[in-house]
Amino acid sequence: MTGVMSAIIIDGKAASAKLRERVVAETARLKSRHGIVPGLATVLVGQDPASEIYVRNKNKMAEALGYKSVSFSLPQTASETEVLAKVKALNDDKSVHGILVQMPLPKQVREEAVLDLLDPKKDVDALTPTNAGLLLSGHAKLVSCTPAGMMMLLKEYVGDITGKDALVIGRSLLFGKPAAQLLLAANATVTMAHSKTRDLPGLARRADILVAAIGKAELVRGDWVKEGATVIDVGINRVDAGGGKTRVVGDVAYDEAHSRAGAITPVPGGVGAMTIACLMRNTLIAASMQAGLPTPAI
Ligand code: NAP
Repeated sequence: MTGVMSAIIIDGKAASAKLRERVVAETARLKSRHGIVPGLATVLVGQDPASEIYVRNKNKMAEALGYKSVSFSLPQTASETEVLAKVKALNDDKSVHGILVQMPLPKQVREEAVLDLLDPKKDVDALTPTNAGLLLSGHAKLVSCTPAGMMMLLKEYVGDITGKDALVIGRSLLFGKPAAQLLLAANATVTMAHSKTRDLPGLARRADILVAAIGKAELVRGDWVKEGATVIDVGINRVDAGGGKTRVVGDVAYDEAHSRAGAITPVPGGVGAMTIACLMRNTLIAASMQAGLPTPAI
């Protein structure tokens, strides 16, 4: 018998607060036992307002956790050589354990040149080819923040996902590809979809775990969701809310999906809420790694 279900709402804010507590405890341990203060450096090139907010929030949380936090702003017109020189200086700075170069970069600065130079041990966004390869081979210590946050939420709200059918819509380096690898490593049967995929609704209806990382407001409709499925909505889309105002919605039509899903992440307050806390976790892991200490289990 099928009836109107009401999904469990996956609370990313609460999970993020719990993760922060674990990070605080481990940071205190690292400081008192080994005299190490984790250091995070952010590099922002240009004045994209969304990127400015992201970088400010990252620095704010690093400071709140007692990390050393340094931020560098380069002009929109900065040359690739200038950006690479900054990355090189931070690679060489022993007090900096994590480097985050905020993407996207202006056209004249090639992302791959930056990622080729960035020290993989300090790559807290896990975007370098080395860290992508380590993830593929199952040996990654630094994992892309939002996918890592998604896995923590699945662990808490679903538990063992062995044998479950997972569909990841979106194949970005930042989210879709690492998310698929993590789901696979957790023994899900993973399908990846993208803009050229045929019959996306049909594929979605088979998924026990439906992950949307597309960047298209409410593209995933309620009738794409299998009853009882877990829906992870990664999208952050600003839409017109009338009266000159905007509001943020995900890639999933939340109200429609909520009545069919078993569990669902809201936007905001879902998986996005985990990202910065996971970045702090990665900085802590990077600091431990660089000191030759075991990876903290947080
Ligand atoms: P992205 O680089 O913009 O890539 C979007 C992906 O969606 C691409 O793989 C694209 O396919 C696919 N796609 C586009 N239109 C599609 C369609 N009609 N049907 C199926 N697939 C389609 O993505 P991203 O950087 O992963 O970001 C995705 C969304 O997640 C954005 O809203 C972003 O803001 C959000 N996000 C949030 C966080 C966070 O919460 N902290 C972190 C990361 C991303 P092709 O490859 O074929 O072009």
